[in-house]
Amino acid sequence: MSNLALPPVAGQPRGRYNQRLGPEQEKRMAIERTLSIVKPDATRRNLTGAINDRFERRGLRIIAQKRIQLSPAQAGAFYEVHTGRPFYQSLITFMSSGPIIVQVLEGEDAVTLNREIIGATDPAKATAGTIRSDFAESIEANSVHGSDSSENAAQEIAFFFSAIEICP
Ligand code: GDP
Repeated sequence: MSNLALPPVAGQPRGRYNQRLGPEQEKRMAIERTLSIVKPDATRRNLTGAINDRFERRGLRIIAQKRIQLSPAQAGAFYEVHTGRPFYQSLITFMSSGPIIVQVLEGEDAVTLNREIIGATDPAKATAGTIRSDFAESIEANSVHGSDSSENAAQEIAFFFSAIEICP
């Protein structure tokens, strides 16, 4: 019998994320999922691997991923919350202009960690070393999307993925 088949031991931390955590830390850390998108400006410049590397180096696991091209109507639906903003039409045109990679990232505090890795919306204001600081072309063509709350993450993941496509 391999170790994988052994049942978990009561009271013992298990799983790769919890291996070195005590019970108090475990309570504070939550394994979360977030939706990430590699945007058309980044797929055009062949940056998918470089961006994925940033996530994996910081401990986020890519548990679902697919390359698609949104229609303007689909992009409009995804960004419905921005209806009426001055950049809404331009954002729809940009997000449907080429292939995107939609992905589910999983890890400890994944929503907050991912936002930290990607940096501020405007690359001019993003911290050095973040994805947007290093790769974004403009405030609109800013290379990546990341959910901004766990509630939005759940909705955005459901927008793109069915349960069978997510493989932790
Ligand atoms: P995010 O959560 O950091 O992606 O930022 P928002 O939810 O505020 O905006 C969604 C997306 O709209 C951003 O990632 C940009 O692609 C785009 N966007 C935001 N603000 C502006 C803006 O002032 N001008 C333009 N052209 N695009 C913007």
